[in-house]
Amino acid sequence: MPRALLVVLDGCADRPVKELGGKTPLEAAVKPTMDRLTSEGSCGLMDVISPGIRPGSDVAHLAIFGYDPYKYYPGRGPLEAIGAGLRLNPGDVAFRANVATVNDDLVVVDRRGGRYIGADEVKEIEEVINNEVIPTLRAKYGIDAIYKQTVEHRGVLVLKGSVSPHVSDTDPHVVGARVAEAKALSEDARVTADYINEFTRLVHERLGKARFNEIRRREGKGPINMVLLRGAGSMRVFEPLSSRYRIRPAIIAGVALIRGIGVALGMEPINVENYVGSKDDDFNAAFHAAAEALRNHDFVFLHVKPTDSMSHDGDFRGKTMIIERVDAGLRRFIEEAPGDTYIFITCDHATPVTVKEHTGDPVPFMAWGIDVMKDDVGRFSERDCSRGFWNRIRGIDIMNIIANYLGTLEKFGE
Ligand code: ZN
Ligand code: ZN
Repeated sequence: MPRALLVVLDGCADRPVKELGGKTPLEAAVKPTMDRLTSEGSCGLMDVISPGIRPGSDVAHLAIFGYDPYKYYPGRGPLEAIGAGLRLNPGDVAFRANVATVNDDLVVVDRRGGRYIGADEVKEIEEVINNEVIPTLRAKYGIDAIYKQTVEHRGVLVLKGSVSPHVSDTDPHVVGARVAEAKALSEDARVTADYINEFTRLVHERLGKARFNEIRRREGKGPINMVLLRGAGSMRVFEPLSSRYRIRPAIIAGVALIRGIGVALGMEPINVENYVGSKDDDFNAAFHAAAEALRNHDFVFLHVKPTDSMSHDGDFRGKTMIIERVDAGLRRFIEEAPGDTYIFITCDHATPVTVKEHTGDPVPFMAWGIDVMKDDVGRFSERDCSRGFWNRIRGIDIMNIIANYLGTLEKFGE
């Protein structure tokens, strides 16, 4: 039974870097294993969405997993909630949230509540909302909810049950404006809008009285007495990868957002120690875990984050080093993986170190395995892969290409 590993190097594709003699980090890195696989296999370029479109990692991964993001993207709210480790069921509605400072007339004084929020404050904010505000509203509306603070002033609110995503933001998006009233944008959203407006009122009342705000006032800081909501989105029903491609999939990803998307698509998450999406990630451990996982799965997805983080920092040397460390992990994988394993490597978008942001450049793609056509390209890079067998593919083609080698796809027609 053949099996496959797909490695996505987040934001790894790049543009020529002057300090690297006009090479990209992929061209400058010493990566004998990726280059050997490319020389024994075949490669090409991939437009993750379509030429020139700059994707976020969430949209890009949906495409790579085979779900057209123009059709399936549920919005930032649900994906942010997934990224925060919350489990969402189809139909649940998630909002992005900011804790903020407002005055007695509910005029926003600081949209970020001073931005830095201490761990004790986070705990108390969550307790007040989850143990006081939400139960009060549950008794009145029969709607259950959960609130979670994520990073700094940011958080997520998830409503469960009979709710609608068609409500307007309470976040006025500017300082000096009053907290907006949530409006029902469709007939079925009335109760949800009422719920949200009462949530706003209760949060203001209860957070204002919370103990941590007394301390903040004493220290001369503005109180955190509001949660501003925006970007409501409804969690979609996704046909799981297992039935779509007839595979048993697993995912190794340190970043919660990517792992959450995988879980929403029915992939089994595999935890690896010291693999959290940081520059110190243990790639040997991750590739070892991938090889192990392929003993009882036929598809393993492995996400590499720091190639993207280094790019956002403009750190081309750091990016080159990460590529080299990934390459060492990959060598280990080949030694340990079952012999009938196919390997695919690509990126979810380019993040050129000169731009420090995601761009819509095409990314390199490589396929290796026992019966994969060998082309004449011997190195894995943006420039080299432009001469490969696959020419130019799209993000949503990858899973079909993989399933085609695994022999699990149903025939189209007779
Ligand atoms: Zn990305
Ligand atoms: Zn990024």
